[in-house]
Amino acid sequence: MYYQTLLTLNEKYDKEIIESFDLWLFNLPQRVSDRISIAKVSSELKIEFKMAKEILEESVGLGVLEHRYAIRCPECNHVIEIVSIEDLYDKIANINNCDACESEDLNITDEDIQILYKKNDNNYNNGNTGTLKKNIKYSDSDSLKAFFEEEIIKPNDIFYSPSEAQKKGMIKLFEKIGQEEKNTTAIGNQLRNFTEYILRIVKVFEAANVRTMTNEIDCLVKNKLKLGIPYFLNELGSIIIVECKNEKTNPGNTYFHKIQGILKIFKSKCGIVVAINDPTKPALQIANANYLMDNTVLIAINYDELKKVVYENLNFLDLIENKIVMLKTNATTYLGDNKVFEN
Ligand SMILES: [Zn+2]
Repeated sequence: MYYQTLLTLNEKYDKEIIESFDLWLFNLPQRVSDRISIAKVSSELKIEFKMAKEILEESVGLGVLEHRYAIRCPECNHVIEIVSIEDLYDKIANINNCDACESEDLNITDEDIQILYKKNDNNYNNGNTGTLKKNIKYSDSDSLKAFFEEEIIKPNDIFYSPSEAQKKGMIKLFEKIGQEEKNTTAIGNQLRNFTEYILRIVKVFEAANVRTMTNEIDCLVKNKLKLGIPYFLNELGSIIIVECKNEKTNPGNTYFHKIQGILKIFKSKCGIVVAINDPTKPALQIANANYLMDNTVLIAINYDELKKVVYENLNFLDLIENKIVMLKTNATTYLGDNKVFEN
């Protein structure tokens, strides 16, 4: 075996299939090693499409392969571009024409994106044993839509996938929070600068500092989701109001009332409070009452949760999504520790 890691697959599949997959993968020419399709593996190994998909997905889990995304023209099916997860959303948002059929104003959806695989050169033969995936019902499709439905790929990972440079930037700004400053404005800016930075990493958000006329809002976010998928961000509307509170006191009911007022003025359906500590119980009750009354979403994120985003690769959108579920169910304990960290 060239890829020792793949030996783990022998638990689940015919040894000969895995051996021929290993050999085929090893001998794959460089120029096509970033565009391995499920159909290709299925025909090369003479196995069913579903089994090929399963073996490829297990190989991703084991670190031998990684996903690539082929953006196809909705009109003629021509592959316009093959990209990594970091670039996927930006490309979809910016591709307008197809060179092959000359169609314009293309509306690319998750059905037009085909999942491919790339050899992971950094992880060539690390001897990892890894674990196999459980309970996935694989379908006969290699579209991103199917991968979303089968929960193999999560939308949150497409819209929030910080680069290494962005991770470093996050750490730099996060470490400033709580340091001594010459005045209260500078202290307030610590948490606000960090929050704005992380909001800008979310591909569909456009964060703008609007601390101008009213001096009331810390950050206004435009939600520009442009991929037609059923997704929680769609429910939040186009304007999200973000307030930062860099103080040790817990955000209370007066503060929450004030933010509910701001949401109404801006006709916003969603507010996010970023604070050092959790809101008080009465504040959370206000948020829940407002949700029940007019579907307004007001959630709060604390310092320790941000710390997990910065240092433990917690997906910022998973955090927001879980907080919204908590609000809707009136849950008092953080669901994320069960939901987000399971693997
Ligand atoms: Zn075309």
